[in-house]
Amino acid sequence: MSGSSWARRLLGTAVDLSEGESWAQAKSEWRVLYEDDAGGPTETCVCGHEGLRYLNMVGNRITGARLYPVGSSCVERFDDDRIAEEQADARAVRVLRQHAVAGDLDRPHYSRRAIDALHRERVIDAAEHALMRRLFNKGPKAQIPEHDAALLRAVVSRRVMPYLCGAEARIAAERAGEKRGAA
Ligand SMILES: [Zn+2]
Repeated sequence: MSGSSWARRLLGTAVDLSEGESWAQAKSEWRVLYEDDAGGPTETCVCGHEGLRYLNMVGNRITGARLYPVGSSCVERFDDDRIAEEQADARAVRVLRQHAVAGDLDRPHYSRRAIDALHRERVIDAAEHALMRRLFNKGPKAQIPEHDAALLRAVVSRRVMPYLCGAEARIAAERAGEKRGAA
């Protein structure tokens, strides 16, 4: 663990909201739920670190407690490989979400990590995951056969877009609630 006062404050706050009584006991309780984009470096982390643009919602699966916003670099202070991986997944999905909401989601926006995260979240099934991975591996600019292109369009319109747009709507509602709560 880093010895900085920010790290101690962040982990101290998390432990207070946990069932475990030390960070070593508590850290398995915490999950990165999603990453949000403030659009500019305007927000302040729960640890006091200012100038955040990318904001993580971090939740405790046992107590239901939430920490928001937590900066992406601050998530590294949690000093846990699994949490760091979840943050990277949340970032990959956030990129897709922003393109989905902007209406310009296209093959170059998908990362291997994002495709795997959609499968883990059960947005796409094993066959859909295999299709998306196979097309991803061809490269973002490669021509793909019309049959595959039609399959991909179906997966995106039936599964991926509704999931991403629904997630963005929930996050936007939470964001508005946080603003009201802070006012
Ligand atoms: Zn922080």
